[in-house]
Amino acid sequence: MALKYRSIRGTRDILPGQSEKWRYVERVALETAATYGIRQIRIPTIEKTELFTRSVGETTDVVQKEMYTFEKGRESITLRPEGTAGTVRAVLENSMLADTLPLKLSYIVSCFRHDNPQAGRYREFTQFGIECFGNSLPTADAEVIGVAYDILSRLGLSDVSLEINSIGCPKCRPSYNQALKAYYENRTDKLCKTCLERLERNPLRLLDCKEEGCQALAAQAPKSTDYLCEECDDHFEGLKKRLDAMGFVYRVNPFIVRGLDYYTKTVFEFISDKIGAQATVCGGGRYDGLVEELGGPHTPALGFGMGLDRILLVMENSGCQFPAPPICDLYIGSMGEEENIKALTLATHLRREGFTVLCDTVGRSVKAQMRYADKQSSAHSCIIGSNELGQGKATVKRMADGNQTEVALTAEAMSQYLYAEKAEEIAEA
Ligand code: ATP
Ligand code: MG
Repeated sequence: MALKYRSIRGTRDILPGQSEKWRYVERVALETAATYGIRQIRIPTIEKTELFTRSVGETTDVVQKEMYTFEKGRESITLRPEGTAGTVRAVLENSMLADTLPLKLSYIVSCFRHDNPQAGRYREFTQFGIECFGNSLPTADAEVIGVAYDILSRLGLSDVSLEINSIGCPKCRPSYNQALKAYYENRTDKLCKTCLERLERNPLRLLDCKEEGCQALAAQAPKSTDYLCEECDDHFEGLKKRLDAMGFVYRVNPFIVRGLDYYTKTVFEFISDKIGAQATVCGGGRYDGLVEELGGPHTPALGFGMGLDRILLVMENSGCQFPAPPICDLYIGSMGEEENIKALTLATHLRREGFTVLCDTVGRSVKAQMRYADKQSSAHSCIIGSNELGQGKATVKRMADGNQTEVALTAEAMSQYLYAEKAEEIAEA
């Protein structure tokens, strides 16, 4: 049969088997953030295009090449390429800055970028992120980095390294931009076309170019840390001091600038050596000017975005442990209509107790039902025939060792039996 429809290039289906792993990673991320007092926000998938051009920046790859934008009526709408802009919009629209600060939020969002699909790079991908508003001290930067650090270690990702940098503020950035321009202006013959175009308006972007020739040039370029004003320098020193005290291992990499325009002062990345070229699993930093840029009061803020697709790739490639997938506690087979109804009602009651219970819904023979129960890796099974129905009890078999127990055909007796089995299992483990 020829397939009539296929998924769009750069998008993927997450199937059972994988989806449980996703849920696990998402739960660990949200729960770790919660230990820092960070609470989840859910924001829309679409926003006005201008929100992203304003915040992400006109001269970034994301805005220039990667956004999914469409017109609807007279409005230009874009599928979110990242989570920060929408979160800031939501914070302002819902007057959340009027409450006690700092305000700390987390989110899990699907993002859309017309990127070049390859391992670790998709056109629809998922980010876990946090954003914190109203805190300017390096303690906040250390905490935000701490959240990412904790999530990665809880997931068992030990081979991920932390790189940090400071790219200054509107006070010191101009002199750094000038130094970059002077450096690149003598080397324009070696720059790619996009970088040539960006040199005048946004020289910082050149350091983030993925072209080989540009990367070679970037390695010798002036370092942002040599151009920091006193305030930014103190802030960066304050951050390093705190990271040291927290016992976090990191490296200062003066060439990290991040792909989005809104960053000021601290920027950081967590990088894995387990997934090839698309190695950054988490990127973030401070964006003290963004809230104001989007029409709010001046509010220092910072956050990060963690690429969950890449996190899962790294976990698979480094043999991290995932929780065992859920099992079926009991399969209730049946022979005949009254017996099948009995199985159905028992199953319904037991599910309400939290057990996973299956019964026949397709009219299989008893033999086929038992084969099915086996395929579902049922921990226990029983069969209700006319005898069992008449006597009000059935033999429940523990599949692992064939042990048999007679149990009354009531929800109470069955759940008591299954609870006892679980308790035994836990005791043995
Ligand atoms: P890259 O340099 O890899 O393109 P970026 O600078 O565009 O990344 P951010 O915008 O900072 O990335 O997004 C934060 C995180 O989201 C990245 O570190 C990465 O883990 C993930 N990410 C970004 N783009 C993609 C994508 N196309 N597919 C999967 N994950 C992605
Ligand atoms: Mg990118």
